[in-house]
Amino acid sequence: MTQKKDCKALIIGAGAAGLAAAEALTRAGKRCVILEARNRIGGRIWTVKGPDQSPIELGAEFIHGRPRVTWDILKRFRIKAIPVSGVRWRKGEEGLKRDSNSWGSLSKVFSRLKSTRKDRSFLDALEKMKLSPASKEMAERFVRSYHAADTRKISVNDLVFQQEVSGESGMQGYRIPQGYGSLIKNLAAALPPGSIQLNQAVREIRWSRNKVEVVTQKSRFKAERVLVTVPLGVLKYPGAFVFYPALKAKEAALKKLEMGLAARVSFFFREPFWQKGGRKNLSGFFQLEKTAIPVWWTGLFKDSPVLTGWLGGPEVQKLGAPKLFTRRGLESLSGLFYFDQKFLKSKLLRTYFHDWSSDPFSRGAYSYCGVGGMPARKELARPVDKTLFFAGEATDDSGEASTVAGAFSSGLRAAEEIISSLI
Ligand SMILES: Cc1cc2nc3c(=O)[nH]c(=O)nc-3n(C[C@H](O)[C@H](O)[C@H](O)COP(=O)(O)OP(=O)(O)OC[C@H]3O[C@@H](n4cnc5c(N)ncnc54)[C@H](O)[C@@H]3O)c2cc1C
Repeated sequence: MTQKKDCKALIIGAGAAGLAAAEALTRAGKRCVILEARNRIGGRIWTVKGPDQSPIELGAEFIHGRPRVTWDILKRFRIKAIPVSGVRWRKGEEGLKRDSNSWGSLSKVFSRLKSTRKDRSFLDALEKMKLSPASKEMAERFVRSYHAADTRKISVNDLVFQQEVSGESGMQGYRIPQGYGSLIKNLAAALPPGSIQLNQAVREIRWSRNKVEVVTQKSRFKAERVLVTVPLGVLKYPGAFVFYPALKAKEAALKKLEMGLAARVSFFFREPFWQKGGRKNLSGFFQLEKTAIPVWWTGLFKDSPVLTGWLGGPEVQKLGAPKLFTRRGLESLSGLFYFDQKFLKSKLLRTYFHDWSSDPFSRGAYSYCGVGGMPARKELARPVDKTLFFAGEATDDSGEASTVAGAFSSGLRAAEEIISSLI
């Protein structure tokens, strides 16, 4: 493997954070090389094409609110994003109904959450509130689903902080009709040829001040700086990613941050059959109880034949093999729309699923803060000896962690740190 002599920084990972950093470094005239383990770029952004060539997301799908960093990138590359519309539905004991209540009840619960000197878990805080069993279950379900978190572990102080940053507008979602992958493609296209090396799974980083050697399964690379953007799940996984000398400075932060679990499945049907027979308005978001996959949403456009199911939190571990996930998905859908599974299977063209939890290059979906863990994101982000730098959604402490926006911001922050360290 030959490596250009003037490479100032190696970047580990070609996800949103790594690509944003590489593009900023390139603009500042600092040559860098990205080492990516997989045979594709994008990381937890992975857009594939449906049978009709429409984009199907296997990872991130929504822009939550109007984070500046994401909207700036959209604007620069002239990529359109459109607001998510559609009705909220709930299937309970009384059948499938428009859900006009739960959002308000949820807001009430969240407005009662307060930061405290001694942090608590979300479950502890809920128990102190003395809510009705139904309200408590609804609030827990939301946090498991949206934050992909274990309610016994997630920090209330961090939830309150994220809520303050995103505000009401953070709940408005947007989607990119060309797919999230279009942002990734454009960022990568702005880099000089040869800047991204695929199939380079990094195993070791050997480092001393101003000197790094990165060892992959097939090569060694040298530079003055290294930027690590691998997901928190990979950093936490024993033996997956090793530093010599060991990085004691990050151990406490890694213990306080948790990798959340989430799974999504998208079914591409022959037609939007659930809208037939006077049910034209059946689009938007659906929630149902006592089922394996409790959240569903329809595709980008009203007549899209795609339904996506979502499960977040520790329950994901119980679903077992990907095949079982698909089966459970069809069972849940059958309960939601009152169609038997044989009928659903006859309408199904393709299933899209990726097992992020056991993927060795993600080991989960996105990060959350454990109790008392609020300072941990900043600690994880802090450069070591002006030589090791860190980015990725888990290192964002601006309130956008866990999201694509957090990943982009962290990449830009790390690029600035590297540039100033080279002056
Ligand atoms: C199912 C799912 C749904 C989501 N939905 C949304 C959503 O709707 N909206 C939203 O904002 N966010 C969402 N997210 C979160 C969002 O996708 C991530 O926060 C964001 O993409 C993370 O970017 P990143 O650059 O930090 O990490 P990644 O995208 O994970 O990039 C890290 C890169 O490092 C590479 N890597 C890992 N190990 C090694 C190694 N040893 N050597 C070399 N390379 C390595 C990986 O292959 C990867 O390309 C979702 C995530 C998942 C999984």
